[in-house]
Amino acid sequence: MSQSGPRPGRWRLVVVGGGSAAAIQVRRGDVPPQEVLVVAERLGTGMAFLGRSTLQSYAGELLLSGRSEELRAMMRAGDLRPSASEYDAYVQESLMRSGASVTLARVMDIQKNAQGFVLSLRTPGGVRRQVYADGVVLATGSTPRRPPEDLRAAGALTYDVVHRELAAGSSRRWEGMSVVIAGAGNSAMQTASLMAPDARDVTILANRYVGMYPAESDDRFAWRAPSQLAYELVVKSSRECGRQPWNVPCVRHLVHESLEADGDRIRWRYRETSNLGVLGSHSTAGRCRHAQARRVGGEDADGLWEETRPRDSVVVVWATGCTPVYPPGELMGSLEREPDGTVRRDAHGRTDVPGLHVTGACAGQRSVNETAPALTRAPAAPAQGREPELAVERATV
Ligand SMILES: Cc1cc2nc3c(=O)[nH]c(=O)nc-3n(C[C@H](O)[C@H](O)[C@H](O)COP(=O)(O)OP(=O)(O)OC[C@H]3O[C@@H](n4cnc5c(N)ncnc54)[C@H](O)[C@@H]3O)c2cc1C
Repeated sequence: MSQSGPRPGRWRLVVVGGGSAAAIQVRRGDVPPQEVLVVAERLGTGMAFLGRSTLQSYAGELLLSGRSEELRAMMRAGDLRPSASEYDAYVQESLMRSGASVTLARVMDIQKNAQGFVLSLRTPGGVRRQVYADGVVLATGSTPRRPPEDLRAAGALTYDVVHRELAAGSSRRWEGMSVVIAGAGNSAMQTASLMAPDARDVTILANRYVGMYPAESDDRFAWRAPSQLAYELVVKSSRECGRQPWNVPCVRHLVHESLEADGDRIRWRYRETSNLGVLGSHSTAGRCRHAQARRVGGEDADGLWEETRPRDSVVVVWATGCTPVYPPGELMGSLEREPDGTVRRDAHGRTDVPGLHVTGACAGQRSVNETAPALTRAPAAPAQGREPELAVERATV
């Protein structure tokens, strides 16, 4: 892959990232692809770790341009949804054929001076170099949230590790173990169904009940089709766990109060009153041989139950969502953050630093069809509703 363009030495726009947001920026953005350099550590979707698993979105919800046949060409005939691998290939092709130049490298720093932006890159071979740009769009994605320190020390994994190990065909470290998954969304439900066949039992510990879309919730980010399997396993195993000859994998779903590593044990607590719904009522204490709990705080403690397992018999998996990823450096560190960790930006993806934009997961956009290209040719005047001080350039080098 080479770097070429109408103005060698300085790009009109550098897009950092090689996923769906980068492709949408290049293909649907306001700068002709020929004037764009894409810098990415890897081309393809950040969902690639899901391997052959089917994505929850339908093909039509995942398009990067108006041309649906480009994605269809990567998919098995008759499928409604692509697998993560098929989608990965589509994103790669989409970028390679976009007309933009592409460089595989990690952006190590971004600085701004009177002429524009200076990006410091490190190639996979370890070569360091700089590129110059009038504008920058960060499409650097997000990464799974990490477990708290006590659970990390107890060997807790992030859920992507489970997908990666299954895709690589590695030995299943959860074989014959009790699996405890922290998380309430699709990732937790899908991880549960992947681990259930080999685990001794699986307990999903959620902080709230999300519900199946569209039967229980009209939020389209609620549990979707691939989560249905875990849903069904909870109910089925509550009736059949331990009964011959069915031997259904044991899966439970509890809205919990706490989960912690306590010496050589893992301990979690939940209230009966938080688990009166469909899955909770099929998961509470006594439902099967795995649901061995003790009441804590006495009879008046509003049905608080505690379960514990020896630490060496449990695999804890963290599936509580993602945090945004940005290149390192002083300029990035100086940007104001929203409570969810994303950098402050306006509706067009413009950050506090003029010329520096964000799009995709690192801009809090939750899905491909929610991803809009940043507006990089916007006039200098503040957009409607935007506080004037947001446009003040803070970082100079
Ligand atoms: C388990 C899971 C399932 C999901 N399923 C769906 C779904 O079915 N449908 C849907 O619409 N959305 C889904 N999402 C959300 C989806 O991940 C996002 O919508 C989309 O992938 C975000 O794309 P992106 O381009 O912003 O980030 P990514 O695809 O993560 O791309 C980020 C890119 O930035 C690069 N990068 C990062 N830092 C640097 C750096 N310093 N230098 C150079 N390159 C860098 C990375 O290498 C990567 O190429 C799912 C998410 C998860 C976690």
